Amino acid sequence: MVDFLNLKRINSRYTEELKDACSRVIDSGWYIMGDELKKFEKDFADWCGTKHAIGVANGLDALTLVLRAWKEMGLLKDNDEVIVPANTYIASILAITENNLTPRLVEPNIETFNLDAKGIIEAITDKTKVILPVHLYGQISPMNDIQKIAHEYKLLVLEDCAQAHGANINNKKAGNWGDAAGFSFYPGKNLGALGDAGAITTNDDKLAEVLFALRNYGSHKKYHNIYTGTNSRLDEIQAAMLSVKLKYIEDETKIRQRIASRYLEEIKNEHIELPKLTSQQGHVWHLFVLKTKRREALVSYLQNENIATMIHYPIPPHKQQAYDNLKHYHLPLTETIHNEVLSIPLDPTMSDSEIEMVINAVNGFMG
Ligand SMILES: *Cc1c(COP(=O)(O)O)cnc(C)c1O
Repeated sequence: MVDFLNLKRINSRYTEELKDACSRVIDSGWYIMGDELKKFEKDFADWCGTKHAIGVANGLDALTLVLRAWKEMGLLKDNDEVIVPANTYIASILAITENNLTPRLVEPNIETFNLDAKGIIEAITDKTKVILPVHLYGQISPMNDIQKIAHEYKLLVLEDCAQAHGANINNKKAGNWGDAAGFSFYPGKNLGALGDAGAITTNDDKLAEVLFALRNYGSHKKYHNIYTGTNSRLDEIQAAMLSVKLKYIEDETKIRQRIASRYLEEIKNEHIELPKLTSQQGHVWHLFVLKTKRREALVSYLQNENIATMIHYPIPPHKQQAYDNLKHYHLPLTETIHNEVLSIPLDPTMSDSEIEMVINAVNGFMG
């Protein structure tokens, strides 16, 4: 069986270092908001090229807290609109509605699955205050265009980088383009903790200051609360795990890129459309997503061939039971994407023979 993503195999490459880091935290006697977090925040900010990184409990909180901070700073108010790709994972939308803001769902570019300039400009109204580009599947959105639009219409930009650690345009990384960015370190993400974790990156000192308080009950100083904040902290243990994993992210990304190039070159099947690249270097291949009109048949065929697959995602946000108030949207491209996409295994610990098994199996699909 070729697994979709074998987390045990990924992490077991670093077992000794992870255990050492774990022991270090246990022996320190300090488990929340200590030196491990400070070190990881500094190293992650440096790696992204930003001034600040603020560790939080998960990726959803990272996005939610940035919007919340902008409300505290007087930059946003209830019912302001946030432009967001309609085909994103639900977390991007939850961060918006949790803050009493209105998601403005926009059809993505059908080739890249990401927002593009045309879609954004058409969606702007006088209530629009934020653009929330999602670098889906590991490919960065057209951030030069998005920055230009944001500047012209005076909009804030919040990048959803949960799938895009290290994705870049000419080496300027995701997380260093917008006014702020949210990262997830969920175990299956490209930079994964051994539990839940997330971070915000920004170059804005004031925003960083508000966020450092918001994640910790709204307080900079114990028992002095400036905001009605929350508890969303990144544990010392997870920060220590992430410091180990951060050392290897570049190597793992190169392996992901090599596997993706093989798929792009060697998968040839008239029933299957391969993902399109805007800039090869910049894509970090969180997922390798095919499109096919014969998805159900392909899933069961690959299952028979012992190849695991997943669908990212089977139901778009505006079709979710939880979002009855979004069901009026007419989004044919998004619905086509949700009906046709299929992710095949892409795991930095895959062997050559596993990669070949996937290629041969997909090529043998008769439709
Ligand atoms: C995973 C993910 C999130 C949320 O991250 P969590 O750490 O699971 O809360 C947000 N946006 C996107 C696009 C994601 O893939």
